[in-house]
Amino acid sequence: MPELPEVETTAQGLRPLIVNHSVTSVGIYRPKLRWEIPEHLSTTLKNKTIQSVERRAKYLLVNFENGTLVLHLGMSGSICVVPTDLPLKKHEHFELVFTNNTSLRLNDPRRFGAVLWQQIDKELSLFTKLGPEPLTETFNAEYLFHRAQGRVQNIKTFIMSNPVVVGVGNIYASESLFEAKISPKTPAGKISIKRLQTLTQSIKNILSEAIKRGGTTLKDFSSVDGKPGYFAQELSVYGCDNEPCRRCNGKIKKIIQNQRASYYCPKCQK
Ligand SMILES: [Zn+2]
Repeated sequence: MPELPEVETTAQGLRPLIVNHSVTSVGIYRPKLRWEIPEHLSTTLKNKTIQSVERRAKYLLVNFENGTLVLHLGMSGSICVVPTDLPLKKHEHFELVFTNNTSLRLNDPRRFGAVLWQQIDKELSLFTKLGPEPLTETFNAEYLFHRAQGRVQNIKTFIMSNPVVVGVGNIYASESLFEAKISPKTPAGKISIKRLQTLTQSIKNILSEAIKRGGTTLKDFSSVDGKPGYFAQELSVYGCDNEPCRRCNGKIKKIIQNQRASYYCPKCQK
């Protein structure tokens, strides 16, 4: 599943290929992904020019002068920019055709992705309750400590909660807690600000590393083989149940929290 680092890398990869390009037509080949693709996009985007590409949580924001095209890759989506005369592939459900005869295509086999339109000054409701971005200064120990006060929820579920902070997926949550030597079972409100300082830094480090690695290992977005650019993680605990801990040689354990698998070392994560 594309996580924050993949979406960030996608935004970075797309910028040089689509910013300042104008749309000649819009192809909607599968009208419903996770939600209905707005039909009006064909007219709304015609002759409009892309001003910038940003990321918010796991959404790609393609900004035009008259609003923002919001793209989500869902469980299995990917985006490529290819010559327009290249035949459409299976699962390519949405397309922006540009004046230079290239096309941005969204490929989404499982159709959990999304194509939405956000008008200027009218934030979509799905953005209104999102917490801060993990790689910004707003996300720090003081903030997390304040949010955690009185919370009995376990810290892993807490940091995976979008109103608290966006983009900390299941793998990154387990790995960050390992780095910070915090057990995923600890109630969020019971952790000192000093340990939360370590945790916020671990989250930032692990996400930044993944983005950096993605930037160097990811295929060119204009490549036509169209494979999703998900990158292999270097994992310390995730998926490593019953293996020795690389820090203390304890045994990595798998538990289920909030219907998600968590991996941790009971010996060195407290
Ligand atoms: Zn250990």
